[in-house]
Amino acid sequence: MPATVLVSACLLGLQTRYDGSDNASAAVLAYLQRQALIAIPVCPEQLAGLPTPRPKVWFSQGDGVSILAGRGKMIDENGRDMGAIFRRGAEMCLRIARLNRCKMAILKQRSPSCGCGAVYRCGETVSGLGVTAALLKENNIRLLSEEEFRTE
Ligand code: SF4
Repeated sequence: MPATVLVSACLLGLQTRYDGSDNASAAVLAYLQRQALIAIPVCPEQLAGLPTPRPKVWFSQGDGVSILAGRGKMIDENGRDMGAIFRRGAEMCLRIARLNRCKMAILKQRSPSCGCGAVYRCGETVSGLGVTAALLKENNIRLLSEEEFRTE
């Protein structure tokens, strides 16, 4: 049976971004096809029950690892505390990854959910993980961002 890989839905061209657009990546799609991988699309923020479009969210303290540890803080542009909602989305993604036996995830860099190496904190790009990326990593799922793929 071909291997499965969890993929941020917006990278596959689904319009799941906070502003209702997508982040379609030709390089990611080409990689999935070349390797004959089955993509399992997930959008943690939609899975958490948030609408699209929705207010923008960023970390005001820490990153996804800190949120899971109960230390960080994330807010939306209206000042609403979003940590618990983002955690719920992360748990849904982990459940889907387990059901589909995904050992790897390709995630959108810099997103507060999916960022895997860089996220936004108070208007700046800083090193860190989004909440979903942090939970997947904690559960031994290998993380890659779309920036690690190039169109040939
Ligand atoms: Fe894409 Fe992840 Fe943001 Fe959903 S939460 S739009 S999958 S980056």
